Amino acid sequence: MSYANPPRKIALVGIGKIARDQHVPALQASSEWELAATVSRSGSVEGVEAHDDFDAFLAARPDIDVISLCLPPQPRFDYARKALMARRHVMLEKPPGQTLAEVHALQRLAATQGVTLFASWHSRMAAGVAAAKSRLVERVVRGARITWKEDVRKWHPGQDWVFEPGGMGVMDPGINALSILTEILPEPVHLVAAELEFPENRHTPIAARLDFTGNVRAVFDWRQEGPQTWDIEIETSKGSLALRDGGARLEVDGVAEDLADHPGEYPSLYARMADLVARGQSDVDLAPMIHVADAMTLGRRVTTAPFEFDKEKT
Ligand code: NAP
Repeated sequence: MSYANPPRKIALVGIGKIARDQHVPALQASSEWELAATVSRSGSVEGVEAHDDFDAFLAARPDIDVISLCLPPQPRFDYARKALMARRHVMLEKPPGQTLAEVHALQRLAATQGVTLFASWHSRMAAGVAAAKSRLVERVVRGARITWKEDVRKWHPGQDWVFEPGGMGVMDPGINALSILTEILPEPVHLVAAELEFPENRHTPIAARLDFTGNVRAVFDWRQEGPQTWDIEIETSKGSLALRDGGARLEVDGVAEDLADHPGEYPSLYARMADLVARGQSDVDLAPMIHVADAMTLGRRVTTAPFEFDKEKT
């Protein structure tokens, strides 16, 4: 006879690119979770109860006590607030909000309501990150270079929200690199200078160069066609370390490390959420977002060529 716990019901809100690419497959493959409902104005998942109004969903399904928000950051606060007010546990996609103060407010609300709030950072769950962190414990970091160059047309096809206020522009992928950096560095660093390139017709940057204390530098660019680059290269007192492919691969002194079998970023996030709910804990680390906020505060603005999505391809 099996005494395993039955899967816990969860609802996914905002059925768009990342929900379809990652959240739905991770939940459907998990024995810990049952994807019991979706809430989305137009999106849905075959075979799953679909709602298009969040208030009506909260009233109709009090038995679903965990909610994962896959919306863009701009509408996310209102949804998170309503969910917490209704005493649901909440998981936030990255970045956890448009502003730091928004997320602090959610943190306070979750604590008052006695529910879990998980500000997820999927890149921290990449296969090489934990191994890189443990390697760095025994070394002195001399400096680091982050190169995060990708094609916004490929990863955010037609998503104008990324260029609207609160969308963060190239910081949306760049914050993934910063989430890894803040996870693995033994000593924290802070931003000392930045240059941000804004397309003349947009509100958020399409490229950025960030300088931190500790000889740490980052270059983010959303105009990269062809091969995409998501690398963090670190010089230490005992040689070099490199995380490549967004943290999926680790090289130590140029030699690829054999990484243990890895469940994947999103299955790992949902395992963490299950653990947090079971323990009655929250996990909200805003360190990556502080660097982005600092870059927006301190960065020198440079105006660059206008940017448009290719309408016929989106
Ligand atoms: P998306 O596809 O543009 O949006 C997700 C869904 O949210 C949309 O399909 C839409 O569904 C709903 N939505 C959009 N704007 C809304 C609004 N103003 N009010 C209410 N609902 C709204 O975005 P995404 O690429 O999935 O990204 C969502 C989040 O995941 C972002 O924070 C992003 O940083 C993160 N993320 C994205 C990727 C990626 O590769 N794209 C990777 C990792 C993480 P309905 O129209 O059906 O309501």
